[in-house]
Amino acid sequence: MKMNRRKFLESSSALLSTGALGVAAKAAAGAAQPRPAKKYRLIATEEAFASPEQVSFFRSAAGTEWHDPDMNMWRSFLSNAPLLGRLVDLEHERLAIMDQFGIDMHVLSLTSPGVQMLDADGGTALATSANDLLAETIKKHPTRYAGLASFAPQDPKRAAKEIERAITQLKLNGLIVNSHTNGEYYDDPKFWPIFEAATALNAAIYVHPRNLPEHANDILQGALSLDGAIWGFQAETGLHAMRLIVGGVFDRFPTLKIVLGHMGEAVPYWLYRIDYMYNVYTSRGRSAHKIRRKPSEYVKDNFLITTSGVNFHPTLKYCHEVLGPDNIMFAIDYPYQETEGAANFMNTAPLPEADLEKITHGNAERIFHIKAG
Ligand code: MN
Repeated sequence: MKMNRRKFLESSSALLSTGALGVAAKAAAGAAQPRPAKKYRLIATEEAFASPEQVSFFRSAAGTEWHDPDMNMWRSFLSNAPLLGRLVDLEHERLAIMDQFGIDMHVLSLTSPGVQMLDADGGTALATSANDLLAETIKKHPTRYAGLASFAPQDPKRAAKEIERAITQLKLNGLIVNSHTNGEYYDDPKFWPIFEAATALNAAIYVHPRNLPEHANDILQGALSLDGAIWGFQAETGLHAMRLIVGGVFDRFPTLKIVLGHMGEAVPYWLYRIDYMYNVYTSRGRSAHKIRRKPSEYVKDNFLITTSGVNFHPTLKYCHEVLGPDNIMFAIDYPYQETEGAANFMNTAPLPEADLEKITHGNAERIFHIKAG
């Protein structure tokens, strides 16, 4: 039988779509395609894992009447065995996929919403055990993994203690928090012991998305499904970043570094309008706070963004032009996003090589205190 390229592709994709061959076959099919050459050390900075204790918390809570956007999201994780397997795995498939697509290092973090749905005691205990697991895993694979420590904002003073333990004793590389906690945002000074600890230890905080609080999430849900990663996550996390800026957090903590995924959760796109309207509002006496600088100056000095989930060169070029090459880091968002697309996107990025040295690994080494490779 004569087979043209189109027929071949149809028959091979039909074979793959049977699912019988699974991940290995898809990987083999990928390997047959020409892949852009790897040029740079690739440190991926928003790579999720789940600890066994976190999974058992959600397993037991999922069987109750507890309905909340993040609990419902976790119900879907628990019924997705391949995804759950990839979240928990730190020894096998994760490293194989990294090897296959030339990813040198995952900067690991406990997956969203981390420890933030538990009470203060439970959240603190879960953060402690997850940070211990992270430290042990990094000790086993020091060239493949770095890690961001969890903490429980439910109790800001104990959070500050765990931050100190995680950075000084466990030698973790930075911190992660998943946006709001119980609908509260960290421009509220009651959370500022967290920023005091982070700045004292020179530890950057990755503010990762979670779903909006339930009352706000309702307007995104329903038939249109605008909750989650299509719009809700970036609306929530971008809003949180704006609250930190306008709430004066960076006037009080001028050296604080916040990392935002997903190309800055839309904040870089709006910089001009944010500055313009902030000026209009303050001149009319409409803003409760008066911050010392233009909002965009804090974005450029106190924030870094990562490329997670946005494998799109026009957005990268825009952020490079507006924020500069020192403020962008590579990320995949494993296992929620595919490694191959992210690696190809980075390896073919149309930017100067010196800037790509920073974006692919140099900035991550600097911000997360990772040994140069
Ligand atoms: Mn993520």
